[in-house]
Amino acid sequence: PCTPRSLLVTGGAGFIGSNFIHSFLANNSDCRVTNLDSLTYAGNLANLKSLEHHPGYHFVRGDIGDSVLVANILAVQKIDAVVHFAAESHVDRSISGPEIFVRTNVLGTQVLLEESRKHWNAGEVGDFRFLQISTDEVYGSLGESGFFTEETPLAPNSPYSASKAGADLLVRAYHETFGLPTLNTRCSNNYGPFHFPEKLIPLLIHNIIERRPLPVYGDGRNVRDWLHVSDHARAVEVVLKGAEPGAVYNIGGNNEWFNIAIVNLVCDLMDQRLGRGSGESRGLISYVKDRPGHDRRYAIDASRLKRDLGWEPAYTFERGIAETVDWYLANQEWVAQVTSGSYRDYYAKQYGGA
Ligand code: NAD
Repeated sequence: PCTPRSLLVTGGAGFIGSNFIHSFLANNSDCRVTNLDSLTYAGNLANLKSLEHHPGYHFVRGDIGDSVLVANILAVQKIDAVVHFAAESHVDRSISGPEIFVRTNVLGTQVLLEESRKHWNAGEVGDFRFLQISTDEVYGSLGESGFFTEETPLAPNSPYSASKAGADLLVRAYHETFGLPTLNTRCSNNYGPFHFPEKLIPLLIHNIIERRPLPVYGDGRNVRDWLHVSDHARAVEVVLKGAEPGAVYNIGGNNEWFNIAIVNLVCDLMDQRLGRGSGESRGLISYVKDRPGHDRRYAIDASRLKRDLGWEPAYTFERGIAETVDWYLANQEWVAQVTSGSYRDYYAKQYGGA
């Protein structure tokens, strides 16, 4: 077991990173978290507003590719664990512009690994961990049956997943070559509060409120495995503290859904919440041309994590999705803030219209 005292969390102003910081500081009140985030379109300090005056929380605006800055944070804060969320994370954006994905996800990860190696070699902290947060998308696509295990060969299909696979392999190499105590988790699709509205579930909620079309790719029968973000955050903490260096863990909730079934579920929940007629929101569904290279099915086998470290998801999907819908309805100000400006331009380019 490892008991980190001073964490460097990268990308902590994003969706999963911010949820992780909230949950980690709530469970570990004597630890410090330094959040390094460059605040791209996806980073939002409003996600961490309630921690502004928390004595254990510290924000640094900067790029993970800035080796001088990273080295400085590692030394000054006596970091004994890096939890690396920072990434370009949206598949559609990686199709229209792959270069930044390689720069941030591959080169940025290499800088963090290299500075971590020097910091760890300097011997100023005892135990040390580097935890790479990754995705089931590195395994490619499944047919109608079967699951991804940690032994499934990496076969990424989008520039996004290829850049994440590249980073995962560098993490492995830093462990094998330099002995750096690395960990690597690969999680299925997350949902929950603070999710940027370009992603499926918040996009649906947002568009239903505004009575805008609900774009569904292809035939809507792509399958994704969904996990509540707080269950992911807890799994990351469990792996950080309990896993053997060099380990890889899949994280998933055994919760597969056709995309179109999710769309229908959110439509029906929203009709109830907004007092609209039954079926009204389903009328907004609009099938759009499939994403190129669209993976058909992802499904995670998380039995290693359950067996070795006793993790189980706490949320059922029914409860999680209802809470998520209610969170977005109660936080319309947050939604308005993140959907202003550049998001509108992106949306118009992706789906047409304003
Ligand atoms: P996100 O896009 O919401 O957040 C990414 C954060 O990283 C943002 O705050 C952004 O400002 C920051 N960032 C980007 N480039 C940076 C740079 N060069 N330097 C410093 N900060 C930078 O992403 P997310 O959905 O929270 O995903 C977090 C991590 O989890 C990613 O590594 C992603 O690959 C992985 N993941 C996501 C999911 C999912 O369903 N969203 C599932 C599995 C794994």
